[in-house]
Amino acid sequence: MAVENQTPTNATSSESIARRGDVDKCPICGSSVDRDAYHCATCRNYFCFHCRARLLPTDSQVECVNQECGYYGKLVCGLCDSPHDKKEAPLIYAEPVDGYWPLWLGIALIVGLVAWSMTVWWFGFFITILVFAAGGFWLQKKGFNIFGMESMVSHERSSSYRTCIRCQQPTKEIKAGASAK
Ligand SMILES: [Zn+2]
Ligand SMILES: [Zn+2]
Ligand SMILES: [Zn+2]
Repeated sequence: MAVENQTPTNATSSESIARRGDVDKCPICGSSVDRDAYHCATCRNYFCFHCRARLLPTDSQVECVNQECGYYGKLVCGLCDSPHDKKEAPLIYAEPVDGYWPLWLGIALIVGLVAWSMTVWWFGFFITILVFAAGGFWLQKKGFNIFGMESMVSHERSSSYRTCIRCQQPTKEIKAGASAK
C-alpha cells in the first residue's frame, strides 16, 4: 500500500503548505495572538497550529520533533496529521501443543495387562513399554500428536504512525490531556 506522499492537505511540496485562517487571531475568542502560537492566553484554549481548530484534551495531538521544520514543537490536530498504517512483518512463534500421551499410556497399560494375564508379569511390562514407546513413535510419525508438538502461530501485525505534514518526519504524539491543564 502506498501511504507516502499523500497528505490530506494536498500539498505537493512542503513549501506549498499553508496554514488556514487568520494566524494573528485566536480562532476561538478572536483576540490577537502571536502568529506562532497554538495557545491563546486570553481564553486559555489550545488550537491546532495548522487548521486552527480548537483542541480538546481528548483530541489526538502531535508535534513535530524536527528542529529544522517550521512546525517544530507546534501542536497539530490528529485530523490534519492523520495516521498512516504500516504493515509489519508478522510475528511468528512456536506454540507447544500437549500430546495425547496420557491416553496412549492408558491404552498401553491395558494392552500390557492383557499380555500379563496371558503370560508373566515382566512380559506384560515389556509389552506396555513397547506399545507406549514404539507405537507412540509410529503414531506420532503418522501425524497423531502423542508426545506433544509445536505449532507455528503467525500473528499479523500493523502499526500506525504519523509524519509531520510539513517536513514528513516522524512526529511525537502528545498524550491526551498533557497539553491542557
Ligand atoms: Zn482565545
Ligand atoms: Zn488541524
Ligand atoms: Zn515537521
